[in-house]
Amino acid sequence: MLTAKAYVATSSTEPLTPTTIERREAGPRDVLIDIQYCGICHSDIHHARDDWGGQTYPVVPGHEIAGVVAQVGSEVDKFTVGDRVGVGCLVDSCRECAYCKAGREQYCVQGGGTLTFGDTDKYGQVTQGGYSTHITVDEDFVLKLPDTIDLANAAPLLCAGITTYSPLKRFGAGPGKKVAVIGFGGLGHVAVKFAHALGAEVTVLSQSLGKQDDGLRLGADQYHATSDPQTFEKLAGTFDLVINTVSAKLDLDAYLGLLAVDGALVNVGAPAEPLAVNVFSLLTKGRTFAGSLIGGLPETQEMLDFAGTHGIGAEVEIIDAGKINEAYDRVLASDVRYRFVIDTSTLPGTDEA
Ligand code: NAP
Ligand code: ZN
Ligand code: ZN
Repeated sequence: MLTAKAYVATSSTEPLTPTTIERREAGPRDVLIDIQYCGICHSDIHHARDDWGGQTYPVVPGHEIAGVVAQVGSEVDKFTVGDRVGVGCLVDSCRECAYCKAGREQYCVQGGGTLTFGDTDKYGQVTQGGYSTHITVDEDFVLKLPDTIDLANAAPLLCAGITTYSPLKRFGAGPGKKVAVIGFGGLGHVAVKFAHALGAEVTVLSQSLGKQDDGLRLGADQYHATSDPQTFEKLAGTFDLVINTVSAKLDLDAYLGLLAVDGALVNVGAPAEPLAVNVFSLLTKGRTFAGSLIGGLPETQEMLDFAGTHGIGAEVEIIDAGKINEAYDRVLASDVRYRFVIDTSTLPGTDEA
């Protein structure tokens, strides 16, 4: 076993604190990764604060992991020591069901695969995430990071990137399509970059115009404030695709009204509260309301390669581990530009081999 430094949530109400955790030695098919950066996804906060219920503690969050391979098992053939790699929301799955075989491991019939933290792995151990100095992962769940993107900017692609790229591809974002992104935070700003790079006309729907300059600089063609009721009148019936990245409850009918005939609103935001829909918002223009969960391993690699080709990384604010709790508060206040990324070299304490 290897002892790694980490930051842990011990209850839904206490601040996260420094700790150490055990990582397994690299087995034959494992890769031991020196984590350098880990993004703070809003889902980490939902987990740490038990927004969705059923959370077990202690839990080390973090599923936007970027680092360098430190050691490989004897049968590993995809990676060598020194490779720049990433790990996202999954570290394993059954590999036998139809979805796993199709590379859609997030929909694995055995519970949607093994989550990077707060889940139980095949060794019977509770998984612990990327707010840590090391992680040991089966090579099939490790991604290659593009050389053209810095590790800190690449880390958020492992969740925010794939979560937005996947529905953009599935619903045909591209030239001639009008795409709107609700919420200009961690997921939202990456969605704008990808939708723009795919050739779509992109609109941001944010609570205010406070981040408009950044939105237009990062690839949006238009930027509107949802606090202005005229936004909903002006844009009624406009979009082929709307991606909702908002972490809180929204008036969905108002946003469904922005879709053109046959348009789709895809919800990736994950508030705990149910969202109400008046079915006439869907019926009248043959609209679709859909959901999407991260993405499978092959599509995640495709997304990373696309990001490398187009120079897409997240806009990040790199923080020391001691600022994690403050960062959580700022994310909850929509005060993030646009992803906090933990520099894991600042985790306090010492590692032991
Ligand atoms: P984030 O950085 O906090 O961004 C969410 C944005 O939503 C905020 O920046 C804000 O944008 C807007 N917003 C927040 N509260 C709002 C409110 N009350 N009303 C209207 N708009 C509000 O969070 P994130 O990391 O992007 O994650 C967003 C959501 O996606 C979370 O619920 C997370 O759990 C979920 N998620 C889902 C998946 C999946 O697989 N489906 C994967 C990752 C994350 P403006 O300031 O621009 O208005
Ligand atoms: Zn996430
Ligand atoms: Zn499966």
